[in-house]
Amino acid sequence: MNTNILVTANGLSDRDLLARLDALAGRERAASAALVAHLAALDSRPSLYAAEGYGSLFSYCTQALRLSEDAACSRIEAARACRRFPVILDRLASGELTLTAVRLLGRHLTPENHQAVLARAARRSRSQIEALVAELAPQPDAPTSVRKLPTLPVAAPSSTPASRAPSVPPVAPPPAAFAPVPRPIVQPTAPERYRVQFTIGEQTHEKLRRLQALFRREIPDGDPGAIFDRAITLLLEKVEKKKLGATAKPRLPASIRPRTDKRRPDLPSAYVPSAVKRVAWQHDGGQCGYIAPSGRRCTDRTFLEFHHAQARAKQGPATVANIRLRCWRHNQYEAELVFGPGRRRSRDGTPPRH
Ligand SMILES: [Zn+2]
Repeated sequence: MNTNILVTANGLSDRDLLARLDALAGRERAASAALVAHLAALDSRPSLYAAEGYGSLFSYCTQALRLSEDAACSRIEAARACRRFPVILDRLASGELTLTAVRLLGRHLTPENHQAVLARAARRSRSQIEALVAELAPQPDAPTSVRKLPTLPVAAPSSTPASRAPSVPPVAPPPAAFAPVPRPIVQPTAPERYRVQFTIGEQTHEKLRRLQALFRREIPDGDPGAIFDRAITLLLEKVEKKKLGATAKPRLPASIRPRTDKRRPDLPSAYVPSAVKRVAWQHDGGQCGYIAPSGRRCTDRTFLEFHHAQARAKQGPATVANIRLRCWRHNQYEAELVFGPGRRRSRDGTPPRH
């Protein structure tokens, strides 16, 4: 069918082609504004997408609506701006404002300034919108010093053959004037291989050099990737130990007796033993375990919480049989199913900062 559209478009006269393009761009703007308006409505009903198995509006946009991550971000930002200032929708539909302009300006709009700012932003280019944002929220001047980037490979012992020396890949020479620090990159390069690129400070660089020296026998070429692997393996063990109570000699969950709350002896304790956390984590694979009636399982792996399948207020104990892993949204959603809406733990309904 789309092939037919191409044939039809190729067959149009010059004048008709331009008229058709103008009409299609208008339809696209109208559809885009309508999509943003409906996303704004969904944003105010988080239980709706939670019930379908999505832990956030972003997950719903990228997975259910098949928007790209960038498209989802700009439409969600625009939807939230429209919830506060519905007048934006008309301007999106008319083409006076683009989604990019709304995304850049959204968080700087206030009830006092939005009319004037939106009028000034009409039909402006991205760079003009950025200048307007800079006026609304001025940033301090960039420091005049030039940030030093490591320019040389880490020095290898003089006895090391030159062919084994490059332990840190050479980096472009420092710029003559201020230049933004490159953004970190994690990019797949081949099956099971990733290129990771980031900028480190002098102190971290010094630590890397010390580790390269200490690992000279085990990692003769001082490969930063091999040292990175050892470092994050250790860090992961430490963080898991802290968050999940991982230990070399774990207690058997069956040997743990549910406790009662010290202040409310009529309720089970809120304390979730580490052994129970570990089993719940492994059971759900470090991912939210909520499964929608459709059979869809939530894919969220962030803001995970330990959820009582039978609520603590309803005598649900912190045992392996009763503790599950849920994302923040689904923990909230399932609490609302039991206790009713309005049990929000943050004022704006956003996940708590961890
Ligand atoms: Zn979830």
